[in-house]
Amino acid sequence: MSNNQWLRLWHDMPNDPKWRTISRVSKQPISLVISTYIHLLISASRNVTRGHADVTIEDLASALDSDEEDISSIIEAMQGRVLDGLHLSGWDKRQFASDADPTMDESKRAQRERPSSEVWRKIRTRIFSRDDYTCQYCGVRGVKLECDHVYPVALGGGHDDSNLVTACFKCNRSKRSKTLEQWRVA
Ligand SMILES: [Zn+2]
Repeated sequence: MSNNQWLRLWHDMPNDPKWRTISRVSKQPISLVISTYIHLLISASRNVTRGHADVTIEDLASALDSDEEDISSIIEAMQGRVLDGLHLSGWDKRQFASDADPTMDESKRAQRERPSSEVWRKIRTRIFSRDDYTCQYCGVRGVKLECDHVYPVALGGGHDDSNLVTACFKCNRSKRSKTLEQWRVA
């Protein structure tokens, strides 16, 4: 598990017309405007008060190998466009409250990621052997066997052994992505 922290960029960010405006107003090249903004974004993401950049003009000028005056005029031109003081406009809408994707916690995300086919083959072999090559739903043996997610992946079921059973082709096709309850009622 990596400790890298992430933040989001919007897809139109590099071509956002605001950079051109800020560049014109500050009389600085777009390249310096965008790189200044990236520094501000990351500073705002790192800061304990997320959304507020806490870099100084001096830091920025030094990081970007440019003059403090040029950076100052960029920060000034950014006001009301992408900055309010040193608060990045729209931060709360655009960025997550924390590093994690709020729609899915880490364990669920890991579960949903399909194992590679190589890993999946190993898992299947282990499950078939655990279940003595017997369909756990109807008890048939000696037929084409599959590995079924008891609680369907489509509903958030994981690929851990506890959610996997050996199923014959017939049972698995009949169950498809139903839960056991749904399947038994059907
Ligand atoms: Zn079966």
